[in-house]
Amino acid sequence: MVNREPEKSEIRDLSFEELASYLESIKEPPFRAGQVFKWLYEQGVWSFADMKNLSQGLRSRLDQDFILKPNTVASQVTSRDGTTKFLFDLADHQKIETVLIPTAERVTACISTQAGCKFGCKFCASGLGGWERNLTSAEILDQVLHVRGVVRGLPPEANKRERRLSHIVFMGTGEPLDNLANVLKAIRIINSPQGLNIAARHITISTVGLIPKFKELAEQGIQFELAVSLHGYDDASRNVLMPINKQYPIKELIAACREYIKRTNRQVTFEYILIAGLTCTDKAARELGRLLRGMICKLNLIPCNPVSEFGHQPPTKEQIRAFTNGLDAVGVHYTLRRPRGQDVAAACGQLRALARKSVNT
Ligand code: SAH
Repeated sequence: MVNREPEKSEIRDLSFEELASYLESIKEPPFRAGQVFKWLYEQGVWSFADMKNLSQGLRSRLDQDFILKPNTVASQVTSRDGTTKFLFDLADHQKIETVLIPTAERVTACISTQAGCKFGCKFCASGLGGWERNLTSAEILDQVLHVRGVVRGLPPEANKRERRLSHIVFMGTGEPLDNLANVLKAIRIINSPQGLNIAARHITISTVGLIPKFKELAEQGIQFELAVSLHGYDDASRNVLMPINKQYPIKELIAACREYIKRTNRQVTFEYILIAGLTCTDKAARELGRLLRGMICKLNLIPCNPVSEFGHQPPTKEQIRAFTNGLDAVGVHYTLRRPRGQDVAAACGQLRALARKSVNT
């Protein structure tokens, strides 16, 4: 008979409370939970042996009971604009992407929540190979810790201010609301002063619009930002790009967003992809004005990153200007996102898709 050890859990899959109750169960004093959390998230150590202020006995006990293992970096590329893209190889060899985006004002990590994606948006490379599995909260946190480690190694800015990982966006591969429990568990640790201590307002969850999860989101009592991928102005235009619109039509989505804004007293950001001749038209600007009138919201315009499988092209500067003039005319507030990391295929799931292609051919 084979005597198999029971499967160990990753220690970063434990919330603070879960860690505290484990430590209590092995008769450790309550302050140990804070110490272990500090090592994991403030210091970001990758082994129990490095947790210097714990007794030797406790370090070995933790090592016996838990796994603490960083994801392996399969590749890492930095683009001319400083955007760095990481491809991680997980324990079961699933590949996930994480992007570090430093700008003058902020340092952002773009985090994946699933290996692959179920939603098949017709411009996004993440959905090309389908969905594989949810990421655990340890795998989500690991991406953040990894990027933070890299940021800590960056030279200070010109004014000698140390660079700090300031913003987290759940805009990598996958749908955060389709893996909500693990995403929320990770967010609590990212936000907690005992964890990574990143302000909730600097954490953005981006969703295709899974309406039934909005209520749960609103009830969390954490002031994170909600971004909703809109990408259309009515059912016909949204159906073309986002198959999920057949399940949750745009009017229901907007109603759910209004309800969310009312419940949380927070604004919602709508993401809107600019594709030449398709989404970036005079009619679209007019209809967006009608759709979003009176809402406490912001419209984030994202010139599309071309993915060869879809054949979409971003509009020219002039076409974008004509579109934003149209938005001005109907009184919609917008921001225009600058494309980053294009020279290293840092756009939305492209690196992972490339890695899959090179495995499959
Ligand atoms: N599933 C979530 C989060 C991942 S996508 C969501 O859909 O919101 C994060 C953002 O990147 C979304 O707004 C998505 O529409 C955008 N995106 C994906 N592929 C893109 C591309 N090729 N060009 C520009 N934006 C893209």
